[in-house]
Amino acid sequence: MSKERSRAIIIGSGFGGLSLGLRLQSLGFDTTIVEKLDGAGGRAYVKKVNGFTFDMGPTVITVPHFIEELFALDRDSDNLDQPDFPAHILNGEQKPGIATAKYAEIVPIKPFYRIYFDDKSYFDYDGDPVSTREQISQIAPEDLDGYERFHKDAEAIFKRGFLELGYTFFNDAPTMLRVLPDLLKLDAVRSLFSFTSRYFSSDKLRQVFSFETLLIGGNPLAVPAIYAMIHFVEKTWGVHYVMGGTGALVQGMVKKFEEMGGKIRYQAEVVSIDVADRKGWFKKPVIKGLTLANGEVLTADAVISNADYAHTYMTLIDPKHRRWNPDWRVRNMHYSMSLLVVYFGFKDSGNLDLRHHNIILGPRYEELLTDIFKRKILASDFSQYLHVPTITDPGLAPDGHHAAYTLIPVPHNGSGIDWSIEGPKLTDTVLRFLDDEGYIPGLMDNLVHSEFVTPDYFETTLNSHLGNSFGVEPRLTQSAFFRPHNRSEDINGLYLVGASSQPGAGTPSVMMSAKMTARAIAEDFSATISQWRDE
Ligand SMILES: Cc1cc2nc3c(=O)[nH]c(=O)nc-3n(C[C@H](O)[C@H](O)[C@H](O)COP(=O)(O)OP(=O)(O)OC[C@H]3O[C@@H](n4cnc5c(N)ncnc54)[C@H](O)[C@@H]3O)c2cc1C
Repeated sequence: MSKERSRAIIIGSGFGGLSLGLRLQSLGFDTTIVEKLDGAGGRAYVKKVNGFTFDMGPTVITVPHFIEELFALDRDSDNLDQPDFPAHILNGEQKPGIATAKYAEIVPIKPFYRIYFDDKSYFDYDGDPVSTREQISQIAPEDLDGYERFHKDAEAIFKRGFLELGYTFFNDAPTMLRVLPDLLKLDAVRSLFSFTSRYFSSDKLRQVFSFETLLIGGNPLAVPAIYAMIHFVEKTWGVHYVMGGTGALVQGMVKKFEEMGGKIRYQAEVVSIDVADRKGWFKKPVIKGLTLANGEVLTADAVISNADYAHTYMTLIDPKHRRWNPDWRVRNMHYSMSLLVVYFGFKDSGNLDLRHHNIILGPRYEELLTDIFKRKILASDFSQYLHVPTITDPGLAPDGHHAAYTLIPVPHNGSGIDWSIEGPKLTDTVLRFLDDEGYIPGLMDNLVHSEFVTPDYFETTLNSHLGNSFGVEPRLTQSAFFRPHNRSEDINGLYLVGASSQPGAGTPSVMMSAKMTARAIAEDFSATISQWRDE
């Protein structure tokens, strides 16, 4: 008699949930993704309006190899035992692979970012050491030596922290203690900003080499210097764009998942994760399944939450089942900052001189970060990331128009800011700033569409605690072992995947988290999986 497949249910269809869905189908599970919204992608949801296509979230695509690994999967054929970084990838192979090409067209973007300073000078960061040195010599020639030393030390952190340890699941304290001496030796535990300040005396260069963690919710003043590896991740494998927008990658993954027999249900919000009572003081309770908002009860052998950590534990699971993640602990975690994101379309006046990815830094850096992350106040100045994908992909807007978004880091909802008042005001200020300061000349006259989201969107639509945009904040005391565990300590058969779990936020990291969670599940279900495979 054939052995019935185990049933897995994933809560949420973000990049983490979709990546894990593909991996569980490849292990042989019967996997269903239940998604609250009417479409897939989570933070990578797409808005289509009046002929404009707006990716709502991630736009900077790095490590195409991670995407290739997912598209190369097949039913009952996983690649969990293959090297995480095969030789050609270690050698910096940047091309998206042949499996990806069937589902998405991925192209390189250069420069990676144009970084504008407050005095309108800019730095085109493209990962090329020659052009990087040239630009440093124009901004602060005295920092050229510092750049060489930064490059060497950040590369050592990248090799140890990303290539060797990136996939380590810090499930227990000894695993953490084993790597700590190395991280101390590499000076990777001090704050990233203080790390970069050791190499650069120029304020501009300190910003250029530390701002990137903001794109994954990390405060450069607090995030450990191990995140200097982001610089090397981009330099080694490039920055990429998916033609049609990041949403096209989401659709490719949904298609692949369904081809492999996976099922997705939309508008299926989970209201509780159901758990059988523990059978003795020393035994963990066991997962039963979950209940949807419409009252439907689904049973499962494994439940994996791709939703926010605090939402998963505090809202979906009865406190009596939570010894390791009680409310006080979950509440005391630090959650990442939030965002105001303005999506807008405008007529092309023919004099746009931006790049695909633009960082526009305000007059203050450390003080502004402190306002956002610590003081939690809405400052009158701001920095922003301005994304103009139609520079690469005109198909995202009607003829003669551009589609863009600009993202402004703001405090999360622990601030008490009333976004129904501040949201429209800040949106107007930011759009006028882009016009008045000449970044998009004539914008206010040429604007044909604009809308925005605030921390309230992250809190109510995406169920993120305090409206955080990137999950649990990456800081030393919330990294590795101290970050929520991908295998729940509380309940047998419950797992986490995505930005709140290990290793952290950002599309490459949540794809890594899916592989780490898949490995934990493969270990826990090894006996059953071999039975399916022996049939
Ligand atoms: C504006 C913005 C720009 C970004 N830019 C970049 C970038 O350029 N590059 C990069 O690498 N990263 C970027 N990031 C970060 C990156 O997008 C995220 O870290 C990543 O997409 C998170 O994926 P995830 O799988 O953790 O889950 P999410 O995308 O958060 O998805 C979670 C899903 O769970 C669903 N859900 C929640 N609760 C329930 C429930 N009770 N029942 C059912 N479903 C539920 C939600 O609806 C959602 O679909 C950006 C983030 C934002 C917000």
